[in-house]
Amino acid sequence: MTIGCARRITRENGATDQMDGDRSVRDVLAIADAIVAPLMNAECIDLRNASGRISAGQIRAPRPMPFFSQSAMDGFAVRTADLAGHGPWRLPVAGTIAAGDRPDPIPGTEPAAMRIYTGAPVPGAFDAVVMMEHCRDDGDVVVVGIRPVPGENIRAKGSDIARDAVLVAAGIRIEPRHIGLLAANGYTSVNVFKRPRVGVFSTGSELLPNGATGAARIHDANRPMLIALANRAGADVVDLGIVDDDLAETARFFRGIAGRFDLLISSGAASIGARDFVGQAFVEAGGTVHAWKVALKPGKPILLGTLDDRAYLGLPGNPLSAFVGFQLFGRRQISRLCGVDEPHGACGRAVAGFSLARESGRLEIIPARVVSWSKEGVPTIDIAENRSSGTLHALCQADGLAMIPAEQGSVRPGDVVEFVRFCSPR
Ligand code: AMP
Ligand code: MG
Repeated sequence: MTIGCARRITRENGATDQMDGDRSVRDVLAIADAIVAPLMNAECIDLRNASGRISAGQIRAPRPMPFFSQSAMDGFAVRTADLAGHGPWRLPVAGTIAAGDRPDPIPGTEPAAMRIYTGAPVPGAFDAVVMMEHCRDDGDVVVVGIRPVPGENIRAKGSDIARDAVLVAAGIRIEPRHIGLLAANGYTSVNVFKRPRVGVFSTGSELLPNGATGAARIHDANRPMLIALANRAGADVVDLGIVDDDLAETARFFRGIAGRFDLLISSGAASIGARDFVGQAFVEAGGTVHAWKVALKPGKPILLGTLDDRAYLGLPGNPLSAFVGFQLFGRRQISRLCGVDEPHGACGRAVAGFSLARESGRLEIIPARVVSWSKEGVPTIDIAENRSSGTLHALCQADGLAMIPAEQGSVRPGDVVEFVRFCSPR
């Protein structure tokens, strides 16, 4: 895999040999795409487990839908030809058909109606259903108040979906609505692409192993969060634990897992501090750095590389930066590995209810809350006072992320800003 813009991290100081400023998010997104490719290995799974998986091929209707002509209403099946002149019309009731019944053939051609319920098969002799509300049911006789047009309230065989029509296209992320449609068409299993294998680890000698306590040490917030994010993005995730801030140990770690994951994600030690070893260790283990330092706030020290032809995403340690970096790059890479090309978040507009002094140059992503809605449905949003990248608290009070483009300077109340609302889980 050749990436024209690869940069080197030297052994001496962990810095790139081209200190030419931060790369634009757009450039780095292109690199993120270039270092992963769809895996395309398919497997057949139970339809009930398919939510979130990617369809591996077109799935077509095996039969016309509905399979038989059925009533769309509770009412009376009639022959419109029997309703001559002006109504109301009195018709003898020849029987009752409920959903699941197989109606007997209707004897003779004398005018008659049949009591029928929603979903029941409409006998071929009848060409319309009059809904119950327009009839008086006198038991053996029905009084029909209106004349239906032929075909009214009948879901004709094949009127919804023709045989061989595409139900779900290839490369679609299967949602519960797709599962419902496939089940309605008789599917119980589905071919999907295998999940990409993603390994997640944290770096930091300050991080406590699960459940432990210790002075001057902190709990590992990023690893469980990134595992959950990667899972939700469609990956088969392996927890690779915590690596201490030690160059030799980190390099050994990279060598030990090289080639085992389609994407490796870490957090921490990606900056320029004397204990920030991931870049240098990655290179010592044979990795190539394709991008480092992104014009993004928070989340500047983000490293994208390849090792043994597999992608590596080194996110910053500050939890909000790790979250933002994953949302921009990790989620996109996993989607691409999964074989799906989907837009990233439902991008919308909001009106700023806040002011923000800032200099242009970096895409800024800020947790934001909706404070009101206009009549037209446009939200006005506010941002948290504490915008530290070290806390997830504001993120968890937020309704979404405000995105201030790199070119933009300060934001004033009333400005229109891009706002990506958090979606409910699939
Ligand atoms: P680093 O990017 O390693 O310099 O870390 C930046 C800040 O994030 C430091 O305050 C770290 O203690 C903190 N940090 C690093 N990794 C984690 C983690 N997995 N969970 C919570 N905080 C972390
Ligand atoms: Mg660290």
